[in-house]
Amino acid sequence: MNTPKRADVILKGIPLSPGLAEGRICRVRSVPFQKTGGGGAASDPAGEEERFSRARERALEELKALEEATRQTLGSDKAAIFQAHQWMAQDPLLVDGVASGIREGQSAEDALVETTLALKAQFEALSDPYFRERAADILDVGQRLHRILTGSEDLSRLPEEDCLLAVEELAPSDAALLGTKKGVRGVLTAEGGPTSHFAILLKSLELPGISGLPLRDDLFVPGETALCDGETGEVVVSPSEETRSRFRDRMEQQERTRSRLKAGIDAPARTRDGHSVGLWGNIASPHDASGVLDAGGTGVGLFRTEFLFMGRTTPPDEEEQFQAYREALTALAPFPVTIRTLDAGGDKEVPYVKGLVGEEANPFLGLRALRVCLQHPDLFRTQLRALVRASAHGNLRIMLPLVSSLWEVRQARTLLEEVRAECRDQGNPTAERIPLGIMVEVPSAAILADRLAREVDFFSVGTNDLIQYTLAVDRQNPRLLSWYDPFHPAVLRLLALTAQGARAAGVEVGMCGEMAGDRLALPLLVALGYDDLSMSSARIPWVKETLLRLDRPSCQALWEEIQGMESGSAIRDRLAAFQETTGE
Ligand code: PEP
Ligand code: MG
Repeated sequence: MNTPKRADVILKGIPLSPGLAEGRICRVRSVPFQKTGGGGAASDPAGEEERFSRARERALEELKALEEATRQTLGSDKAAIFQAHQWMAQDPLLVDGVASGIREGQSAEDALVETTLALKAQFEALSDPYFRERAADILDVGQRLHRILTGSEDLSRLPEEDCLLAVEELAPSDAALLGTKKGVRGVLTAEGGPTSHFAILLKSLELPGISGLPLRDDLFVPGETALCDGETGEVVVSPSEETRSRFRDRMEQQERTRSRLKAGIDAPARTRDGHSVGLWGNIASPHDASGVLDAGGTGVGLFRTEFLFMGRTTPPDEEEQFQAYREALTALAPFPVTIRTLDAGGDKEVPYVKGLVGEEANPFLGLRALRVCLQHPDLFRTQLRALVRASAHGNLRIMLPLVSSLWEVRQARTLLEEVRAECRDQGNPTAERIPLGIMVEVPSAAILADRLAREVDFFSVGTNDLIQYTLAVDRQNPRLLSWYDPFHPAVLRLLALTAQGARAAGVEVGMCGEMAGDRLALPLLVALGYDDLSMSSARIPWVKETLLRLDRPSCQALWEEIQGMESGSAIRDRLAAFQETTGE
């Protein structure tokens, strides 16, 4: 008897990145990288060696293809890592180690796990940081070979046709790789919050994303059709014809809205009563700069430079960084480009920086971001030199992440001034003035905004971290979503304090966390006098559409009313009602 085909299995997850998508489910899962004690090496060592040799051939093909695709989309610097991995996959230390494990009676998988982990441990024990950092690459290559041997899927081999990727969790570098996968229409995950790094990248790739889903085999059958709505977090697996046709109507509507918004991208970003707000884009590489202009953005409020440092084994040198910063500055000139100094650590893992820091019990409260730069001035100086040299090519603003005290700003400024003098003495052209600003993303910085404002040229509020640190809620954990509340009265007070501190000292105040692209929050940010809001480029036209409908006095009256409210949910309801009155 045939089992009746199921239809319209509706699941509700957490919206990560907006948009509608239809596709076939493509399940990517990893087999644990550990020995199982099984396998048939004892009976057929030659067969196991042959399997391992075929796995290596396939790994080399994959790595070559990845190297090429990455070169085209992200540039040669990012592609070099895959060249290095090809050498490692052929290294006699690995190949002979596995062969001898097989001859001792292990399966190819177990021999591979044992050899890889032993090599990794040897490299980790070396005193030279360069070699210590190779440990992560050895593990990566071993895991690739293991996946091929065990027949599990991976991101580099996704089908070309429309697919909805179902995966437990994505690392930021995996999400960056998705940009090269033209068949991926959306991403469904179990883990990850709306302000996790991969969610931010999905938004900039304009890929719908939903997390918090139960990725059970009976629900997410590979090859079955599914629909996803990244705005509501709804997924429909095996949609009926009727559901599908209604969904396609909505997709067409979405396209029409996109075209309408595109038509308005040149309109000045200001309220009905003429109050201007800069709508800027967040970027992760110079390649993203043109997307900001295409969306009507008039600046970059956050260039997350850590992506230049990820997915490789050594930091980019001064010249490579200089080229990247210059490219972004030239593309945007005369508009401002705010380049954030290295923000490694916490959710942004950079293996060789982790090597410098060592193991920490609480990396989110650890030696990360500006802290690690101040402790390792060589790393910081290289970046500052590249920035100062690039300043001659556009309108640069330098921004320091995770500032919690005044002394950090002073120390960073001293270093910057030294570097500027050095660059000028060496005959490098540099900008007359390079504004130095800070991210306000630790509560202490918001509380001390009036003092900090005397030390800097601008503030930009990083709400993703500010909310996390104010409410003690992990921004990546989807189970804590009801606690992670941008409209929590305590968060709003800090936003107001920051804006007041900035205004009193006459410095600019902006926002570059995800809240900057939230249309519900916009009336409050207008009322508080935020000068610029920086978001994923794709959000700019949407936010502009809302901005054009607002007027500042009504926003200010709304803020007065909201200050008396006790809960984030009451505030959210009030903002939603206000949005309706403005005609959305
Ligand atoms: C933030 O914390 O709000 C921010 C913009 O920085 P990131 O998301 O890169 O931590
Ligand atoms: Mg942050």
